[in-house]
Amino acid sequence: MTTEITRIQVDASIHDVARLMYEQRLSCLLVDDDTKTEDCKTVGIVTERDLTRTLSLVLEGRNTEGLRDVMTTSLITIRDDTDYSEAIRVLKENSIRRIIVVCDTGRVCGLITRADLLNAQKRILENEVLQRTQELEETNKILEELSVTDPMLNVGNRRAMDKALKDVFNYTKRYARPYSIVLLDIDRFKCYNDFYGHQLGDQALIKVATELKAIIRNTDSIYRYGGEEFLVLLPETGLAGAMIAGEHMREAVESIGIPHEKSPFDIVTASFGVASINITEPDQKKTITEADEALYVAKSNGRNRVESLDAKNA
Ligand code: GH3
Ligand code: MG
Ligand code: MG
Repeated sequence: MTTEITRIQVDASIHDVARLMYEQRLSCLLVDDDTKTEDCKTVGIVTERDLTRTLSLVLEGRNTEGLRDVMTTSLITIRDDTDYSEAIRVLKENSIRRIIVVCDTGRVCGLITRADLLNAQKRILENEVLQRTQELEETNKILEELSVTDPMLNVGNRRAMDKALKDVFNYTKRYARPYSIVLLDIDRFKCYNDFYGHQLGDQALIKVATELKAIIRNTDSIYRYGGEEFLVLLPETGLAGAMIAGEHMREAVESIGIPHEKSPFDIVTASFGVASINITEPDQKKTITEADEALYVAKSNGRNRVESLDAKNA
């Protein structure tokens, strides 16, 4: 609202009013019965419309009357704590374009126009829409994240894995770039569950997943492949590099040091199968099968080890 309201004394002439409004480019003036005292009483408002009406009377040859007869005296006011929509309703109901705002002591504290109110209301609505949109976007992001995350292990689920494998495979076909996958399976985990209970089994799995997530490169990604099996995708990595990464992961699982009384290693370990895409004849399914077979080899060769089918290339 406008707080700088220009006032005029009620005994001013219409001429004074017109000049003041013209010089100061004002569209209205508040009319006080005594501008000299501190708490002068506002007795009316005179607007451009009132002046135009008076002018037409003058042109018709009627007598110019005093300001008292020109101004609007039935002052419609609103309290300064009225909300925008209520203020707009009052303006509409009374067919007026501006309204005087009074504070709780009854003193005039400003003047607000319909345009001001509509703009303010528009801004509020725009802000609300913006806020709702942001909230919705955040919720969507969380939902999207949840739909591709394993809730217990907080790694990618099969859905996320399928998409990542498809994307990396398409990239390889298009740009002939390598990628590798590492499949890993916790050793003797059935015995772990049987001995320690399923709940501790879950906790051990969470620890393994958290550790693996922490040590892989941020360009690599990890997914829950099955119960206690994970797939790690290593873009831009050939077999030699993937074997090294696999060995890091093996050491990382070992270094957690989760006791496993029923394992020959006395701690929880995992076995790893590594395979790389053949760039000249890319076959996504074959790569996974090879990693699975390599994992089987790792299991057969004593577990807690990293194997590939193509050891000479590694
Ligand atoms: P291996 O060394 O040959 O892998 O032996 P294993 O006992 O681990 O054999 P396998 O991989 O076939 O067994 C998987 C076990 O993992 C059986 C199942 O009870 C357990 N498991 C799978 N998912 C979960 C899980 O979410 N929580 C718990 N606690 N256990 C799981
Ligand atoms: Mg398994
Ligand atoms: Mg296992």
